[in-house]
Amino acid sequence: MKSALVLGAGGFIGGHLVKRLKKEGFWVRGVDIKFNEHAETEADDFVIGDLRDQAFCRSVIDRNFDEVYQLAADMGGAGYIFTGEHDADIMHNSATINLNVADIAHKRNIKRTFYSSSACMYPAYNQEDPDNPNCAEGSAYPAAPDSEYGWEKLFSERLFLAYNRNHGLSNRVARYHNIFGPEGTWDGGKEKAPAAVCRKVASTKSGDAIEIWGDGLQTRSFLYVDECIEGTLRLTRSDFEGPVNIGSDEMVTINQLVDIVADIAGKKIEKNHIPGPTGVRGRNSDNQLIQEKLGWAPSQSLRAGLEKTYEWIEWQVRRNVA
Ligand code: NAD
Repeated sequence: MKSALVLGAGGFIGGHLVKRLKKEGFWVRGVDIKFNEHAETEADDFVIGDLRDQAFCRSVIDRNFDEVYQLAADMGGAGYIFTGEHDADIMHNSATINLNVADIAHKRNIKRTFYSSSACMYPAYNQEDPDNPNCAEGSAYPAAPDSEYGWEKLFSERLFLAYNRNHGLSNRVARYHNIFGPEGTWDGGKEKAPAAVCRKVASTKSGDAIEIWGDGLQTRSFLYVDECIEGTLRLTRSDFEGPVNIGSDEMVTINQLVDIVADIAGKKIEKNHIPGPTGVRGRNSDNQLIQEKLGWAPSQSLRAGLEKTYEWIEWQVRRNVA
């Protein structure tokens, strides 16, 4: 039986990845500092602990797993990453985890690892035009991410690729672009735009307004979590080390995102634009490289993913009110 290790398995993407690996017949160990708040884990073994601690990290990477997925990070939406208040923690916590994982995976002779970088590592100067952002993989340098979260991702993707070059690690690097779906953070300050919009629409009466940070004209693309997992597995099992974008290229403004969710909910929702952290002006996944290297790219519509996500978040909102 094949075995896999999912670091960050108590998180949103990690939880979905565990489910998928179980469906494929893997024996799975999940590791996280906490359990997933939204779903029971399907991992065969789930270990709670702090991956910043080298001894703990060594104790969970204790055998020759066929696949190791490193998704653990100090992470959140714009309300967490872009305010500046958490910069030191974000950099210290995530870099420490990655330094530990890369080195221990190498010393345990793990043959295939995966690291999730982020579109936040792309230079801010290429994302000022909301209609025409450039996020092709080759546009990463000269580096100028707009957040310390992005700088840490850039450092860590280079770290894993350096272990590939110098120590024969066989790591794959993906740059995720705004992943969303059910069983993700939807309130509390770490949620991202699709979840926040779904929550606001679900808890607002038709005809009323919801608050939107900025003018809502900033553009983004959002990828449904099942497609993210599909891309992650395809990349991990391929001969291409990356970095490669895993994202949707269906770009929308935040105002359009609200309109789609309102339409799904069957509500008329007004927008009240207020000051808030918004990040870069425009961002979209460029899928040329993934198509070329893997012969595959995400294709599901944003609306299809939002329908499933809204249904789940609306249920959470109702449960919380009851
Ligand atoms: P998440 O926050 O839901 O999951 C990350 C998990 O890491 C959490 O469960 C957290 O408890 C765990 N973790 C943090 N510090 C830890 C520690 N010291 N020891 C053990 N576990 C620890 O985030 P996610 O959305 O599932 O993202 C997974 C990965 O993908 C992260 O690396 C993230 O940066 C990256 N990513 C996500 C997105 C997205 O849109 N969700 C976009 C780009 C990149």
